[in-house]
Amino acid sequence: MSVQRLRQPEYTGKNRCTPCTIVNTAIAIFISVLASIISPVLGPTVFLASMLTIYLRGYLVPGTPKLTKRYVPDGVLRWFDKEAPNRSSDTEVRVNPEAVLLECNAVEPTEDGTDLELSSSFEQSWRSGMQSVTNPGINEIRSTISGVNNHLNFEQSGDSVIAHKNGEVVGQWDSTAAITADVAAANELVQRSPSWKKMTFAEKARILMSLRVFLEKCPACEGDIRLEDDVVESCCRSYDVIAASCTACDSQLFETEWNEELEATA
Ligand SMILES: [Zn+2]
Repeated sequence: MSVQRLRQPEYTGKNRCTPCTIVNTAIAIFISVLASIISPVLGPTVFLASMLTIYLRGYLVPGTPKLTKRYVPDGVLRWFDKEAPNRSSDTEVRVNPEAVLLECNAVEPTEDGTDLELSSSFEQSWRSGMQSVTNPGINEIRSTISGVNNHLNFEQSGDSVIAHKNGEVVGQWDSTAAITADVAAANELVQRSPSWKKMTFAEKARILMSLRVFLEKCPACEGDIRLEDDVVESCCRSYDVIAASCTACDSQLFETEWNEELEATA
């Protein structure tokens, strides 16, 4: 039988799950140590056979995703999750989006004080700014959001754009509508917030994404925005996402993992 026939593409190559591979490697080391107690030759043989199995089949022990989900902390899994949306770098972000937006009066507390809403002056300028964003794309993001010395890499697929810095995601836009919103908001925030120019790209992108939560009309077509929550399953974990998209043109404005920080701004 050829080696290729043993391969399970659904668990290897780009589908390989890093936490599951690590858990299985640990199991392989453990049973190899046990084997070497029985016989010094058996240990290395078991180890090589186990590693070959993990390489070809993605895991050693059937049902590992369940084991991984149960015993590896969610924070660790989250770090490895390829499909988790907006897995942006936390090391790069040292600002509190809500505080920045409140400070420059882009948002304000609602009348009953329990929530936040856009200030009417910001909303007006933001809306009219969106009309003058003519060609939403990487170049617009580059010229309005990024400053100097950012060493950013942009990746485009269809209408969505992802910004990377040193291999970490520092910004994500799922549609030209989202880019339009952010470019217009950035043009406004640069005038309102004294600290804006000193922030990193990741910080600005995080603040802009927090602002998109407040949109009620689509930046591309003025359609109503629909907010949905969903549970996404990946190899060894499941998580709640919250997504906003346009009911008219289907543009996705954001999709992000639901967490307390977002709860504070939403
Ligand atoms: Zn729309």
